[in-house]
Amino acid sequence: MLSYSSLSKYPIKRVLVIGLGLIGGSFAKALKTRSCVEEVVGADRNPDECRLGLDLGVVDRVAEDLAAEVGLADLIVLAVPVKAMEKVLAEIKPHLRLQTLVTDVGSTKTNLVTAARAIFGRLPPTFIPGHPIAGAEKSGVRASDADLFERHKLILTPLPETDPDATLELARLWQAVGAEVLQMEVERHDEVLAATSHLPHLLAFSLVDTLAREEENLDIFRYAAGGFRDFTRIAASDPTMWHDICIANREAILAQIDRYTSGVGRLRAAVDSGDSETLLGIFTRAKSARDHFTRLINKTGYSSNDHMAGVSLRAQRTNEIDGQINLPGDKSISQRAIILASLAEGVTDITGFLENEDSLATLQALRDMGVVIEGPHQGQVRVYGVGLNGLQPPPGPLYLGHSATAMRLLAGVLAAQPFDTELFGDEALSQRNMTRVVDPLRAMGAQIEISDTGGAPLRIKGGQALQGIEYTLPMPSAQVKSALLLAGLWASGETRIREPVLTRDHTERMLAAFGADVEAGEQGVVIKAPRALTATRLAIPRDISWAALCGIAVAGSGQGQLELDAVGMNPTRTGALEVLQRMGLQVEVNAQPDQAGEPVAQLNIQAGSRLQAVQVGGELLSRAMDELPLLLVAAAQAEGVSRFNGLSRLRHKEEDPVGRTVELLRTLGINVGESEDEVVVTGACISGGQVDAAGSLRAGMAALALGFSCSEPCLIDRCGSLLSACPDFVEQAQRVGLKVHKEED
Ligand code: NAP
Repeated sequence: MLSYSSLSKYPIKRVLVIGLGLIGGSFAKALKTRSCVEEVVGADRNPDECRLGLDLGVVDRVAEDLAAEVGLADLIVLAVPVKAMEKVLAEIKPHLRLQTLVTDVGSTKTNLVTAARAIFGRLPPTFIPGHPIAGAEKSGVRASDADLFERHKLILTPLPETDPDATLELARLWQAVGAEVLQMEVERHDEVLAATSHLPHLLAFSLVDTLAREEENLDIFRYAAGGFRDFTRIAASDPTMWHDICIANREAILAQIDRYTSGVGRLRAAVDSGDSETLLGIFTRAKSARDHFTRLINKTGYSSNDHMAGVSLRAQRTNEIDGQINLPGDKSISQRAIILASLAEGVTDITGFLENEDSLATLQALRDMGVVIEGPHQGQVRVYGVGLNGLQPPPGPLYLGHSATAMRLLAGVLAAQPFDTELFGDEALSQRNMTRVVDPLRAMGAQIEISDTGGAPLRIKGGQALQGIEYTLPMPSAQVKSALLLAGLWASGETRIREPVLTRDHTERMLAAFGADVEAGEQGVVIKAPRALTATRLAIPRDISWAALCGIAVAGSGQGQLELDAVGMNPTRTGALEVLQRMGLQVEVNAQPDQAGEPVAQLNIQAGSRLQAVQVGGELLSRAMDELPLLLVAAAQAEGVSRFNGLSRLRHKEEDPVGRTVELLRTLGINVGESEDEVVVTGACISGGQVDAAGSLRAGMAALALGFSCSEPCLIDRCGSLLSACPDFVEQAQRVGLKVHKEED
């Protein structure tokens, strides 16, 4: 037996369920099966149901004298139809003890609370309305299912008069039968349920009724395919129950029917006039919202590669390499492309878009603000820009997953919108510091609230007039610079940002590609609010971090060469390549036409160069920041002792990629000296072993580079993030001769 503390203010030993139908019977049976209480007593106006309940073992006993049973019960559950609740409450009131908890399972709450106030005058502190979000198309005690509430939500709507201890005790009992307990206010409950349950049921009933009236209805039903069957399943629910719900939740249901009717009206007009953009807009938004909902339900991420989370890779040095690898698109540029294409006028076609968690979170946020976005499909995305003044208020807070770039950049955009927004993310993102971006945005006139610890959620007040500022970044941050430049698109006057160290300038370049009035020079970057941004075609340059990983793999190989096409060569990002070249990697760089305002090049990397130790710091280090873990690995396979200094700024990064890489190297026996500001790596012959990428992209890339440096096989666990960033990398690498393969768990 599950024991409840005998010290509890409201110990529940005997439960009386009134209304032994599907829900009442299921709750009674669930309590009995799990031995949650000492006795479960059933009462129903139908004696046959009572008898059946007893025979089926749903209850321990049937109430012969309801008044007496009410006086004995610790908890009374009203499980009758909603329209009968008032009558039953009035019947039990005279016999209730002070300590007896009273709850219900009705699908609507306002009507119950109104009735209870009328009956009790002052509501007892033990009265806690409830509603399990679980059910079936069957009714009656025969349909009772002891597992009906397992992993389903149960909403409690305690009132101001309710004793929190009473709510807690009832919540524990629902949890004991497997339910996930939530709390909501009564009116909110009825609004939410009207939208998510009542309206869909009404539509299903109405569709079947409409089609059933048609003369050819038999044929329609005979040929009806899965879509009709799926959509109308709930029209088989109990008509009386739904009649009662419509009467009980009249106002909220009417509001939802009106919203829906105007939505169908828009769809009808678009079909009538052949308005493809509106049609596609409605369908793509709905599809992405449905996919988003499925992900929330299944607790999966934005990218469809979650199945790879547990995949390990086995890699080792190869003798011969030859061919070409198509690297994934650059993440930073992909995110900026989606934002600016959404704010432009006209249609922007993007190719080479990186479909990872961060860029998909950005894309979803813009869809939530009414931007029609087709794709991504194999890196292709079509964005129907809404113009600088075309974003719509999102239906709720915008979820940005893990992406600090999305949160900071969008903060700049949203600070200037006429509507309020809230940005939130996963646990890791909530820990990230947002004051760095919020403070200068406030100086421009934005109104933004952040948490006490300086992080998400960000609550941004709309309708603020922004003014341009002159701002010197206190510490280098491309994200803060970008947020301010984006806010500058709506600010009066000019916005000028000065930075102590040049940070990546993808935003400036892309703003220029969309026709913004932006200039970069000695005196910093300046933007003036443009009249409009103009849609364009964008090919996202391929990610230079992956090029560095390939460079290390090739360096470890015996002979041959590897070709990489259209690699981003933004001068603020080429530090790693320069370091590898200094170490002796032979790379031929053939410039190609700019893409998305960015320089790109085809790289030919020659195998067979034995890397030499290197010293890296200062400006070069800041241009190789993201690839530093890879450079530490390169140093591990190089001849001699390499030194990396000026690292203290990086050590405070949330994930400490340097610390993680040091651990990886030490796991394989590499001699690494480490202080706050410096890492010293002594190159060696690396034999092989086993390391953990811990689901991190940066650690995964470093671990794979390490694997390619080993003379014996190296097993790399938890490579999910790595593979979801470039799902076909392993197959491509195998084709050019690299020794790597997947091992699924
Ligand atoms: P059900 O299977 O029809 O059971 C209701 C039972 O209550 C029937 O046996 C009914 O008897 C009895 N009853 C009616 N008036 C009574 C009264 N005055 N005194 C004693 N018993 C009475 O219905 P249900 O599906 O379990 O629904 C019960 C409650 O749960 C409703 O308030 C509903 O809104 C809520 N709910 C239902 C679902 C669902 O999917 N079904 C989901 C969540 C919540 P008769 O058959 O003689 O009327």
